[in-house]
Amino acid sequence: MGRIIAIANQKGGVGKTTTAINLSASLASLGKKVLAIDMDPQGNMSSGLGIDKNEVEKTVYDLIIENIGIEECICEEVIENLDVLPSNIDLSAAEIELIGVDNKEYILRDEVNKVKEKYDFIIIDCPPALSMLTINAMTTSDSVLVPIQCEYYALEGLSQLIHTIELVQERLNPALEIEGVVFTMYDARTNLSLQVVENVKDNLNQNIYKTIIPRNVRLAEAPSYGMPINLYDPKSKGTESYLLLAEEVINKGEE
Ligand code: ATP
Ligand code: MG
Repeated sequence: MGRIIAIANQKGGVGKTTTAINLSASLASLGKKVLAIDMDPQGNMSSGLGIDKNEVEKTVYDLIIENIGIEECICEEVIENLDVLPSNIDLSAAEIELIGVDNKEYILRDEVNKVKEKYDFIIIDCPPALSMLTINAMTTSDSVLVPIQCEYYALEGLSQLIHTIELVQERLNPALEIEGVVFTMYDARTNLSLQVVENVKDNLNQNIYKTIIPRNVRLAEAPSYGMPINLYDPKSKGTESYLLLAEEVINKGEE
């Protein structure tokens, strides 16, 4: 049965979408059947996986607001073994349109339940906010994977995120776990990156992935070609590191 992982951190620009795209694609390249769900109105995961945000027929918005069934909204085999439930700017209206809707915390979960047997992994990219869209991702998920950028303010905001996850555990989804944190944009040339990793390890009582994602310019370039890193530059450090992360995620699930 599918394992559902939300990639979340309300802090902007920490590498959520880069991780969601490339973890999904790496899992797919390892033969796992993957569904990638884009819960961010920015739609960067969709475009980074080669979907034209403005041409796509049905999106997460239609699923959440228009009650369109999930199967109608999924783009199949965007890449071998990888289906995508896309989003675009339409989704930015959802937060307001959901006011007063019954069971609004569970709309995504109820739809994902219909298809989750088909997948080994479902990866959900969250927006940089603790919004109803993120709550929908968290009620749908088995666990939350938190990317942390290796920079000075890395820990800022993390306690609110953990508090939100705990509230969701208490009130909406008792099975939700914290998958762990993954360091992103590690720069081996600076002491700062190393200090951040040491500091977080000392202060955060959570599973920390052994794989550290380096700062790698190929990772930043790939989305403009609509490709995950393993297709854009198979020999890059970025490809190697996200493949290692995918293996860790698979092994953790089998423990
Ligand atoms: P948002 O909060 O806006 O959704 P995010 O957390 O999803 O942002 P990304 O979009 O993945 O973050 O990354 C922010 C920027 O940093 C992007 O331009 C991306 O290409 C770049 N980036 C992410 N990870 C890396 C990396 N390991 N090496 C180099 N650039 C990276
Ligand atoms: Mg993003």
